[in-house]
Amino acid sequence: MTESNRLRIAIQKSGRLSKESQQLLKSCGVKFTVNEQRLIAHADNMPIDLLRVRDDDIPGLVMDGVVDLGIIGENVLEEEQLERQLVNKPADCIKLRELDFGACRLSLAVPNEFSYNDAQSLEGLRIATSYPNILRRFMQEKGINYRDCMLKGSVEVAPRAGLADGICDLVSTGATLEANGLYETEVIYRSMACIIQSNQPQTPSKQALIDKILSRVNGVIRARE
Ligand code: ATP
Ligand code: ZN
Repeated sequence: MTESNRLRIAIQKSGRLSKESQQLLKSCGVKFTVNEQRLIAHADNMPIDLLRVRDDDIPGLVMDGVVDLGIIGENVLEEEQLERQLVNKPADCIKLRELDFGACRLSLAVPNEFSYNDAQSLEGLRIATSYPNILRRFMQEKGINYRDCMLKGSVEVAPRAGLADGICDLVSTGATLEANGLYETEVIYRSMACIIQSNQPQTPSKQALIDKILSRVNGVIRARE
């Protein structure tokens, strides 16, 4: 029995979005206590269940209709959408709104000694990234051939380790790049956290609850501006 009368919201279990996702829902009046060991947190005062998962799993859970809402970085949403389009899996969802946290950019960066003019400087070179689909779209638009070095983590050490010539990674302050002897050359995608809804038909009562949450999110963000 996978259908539920309770609204399911997927949020990041632990990481850069988890505290602010929980805080946002609490500010919207959803009362819950998180048990670090548990996947699910049941709200006490509304028919809402929070699913605490890896951020990478959130877009797919929403697109497959396993959960109703998700809070996720637009970067991860975009990457998953491009990946699913390639393999003909459901890739649609409704972006309800951008949120006011999780700001970062997906950028190209190269070692300090690399002389970079424009993206053409990367022709034929190897680029390490966790975002192969967003990178491919950018490089195809520019008509640049490059080679992949797919890494889920430690992307910033790939050039020094001799695995790649440059990287395409998330940046917020640039401190990590600097610490690894790299500099940012090109922003290819700007991202914020966002709240997404599955495009499965909802029962009227669930849709009413979604509308209520969204209108409260709007109020909370307006009050913080
Ligand atoms: P998980 O264990 O859930 O897979 P993760 O390590 O993939 O976590 P985090 O590093 O917690 O992910 O980042 C989650 C999201 O936070 C990113 O996808 C991005 O949208 C946002 N973010 C904001 N600033 C940064 C940053 N400087 N570096 C990386 N991500 C950032
Ligand atoms: Zn992740």
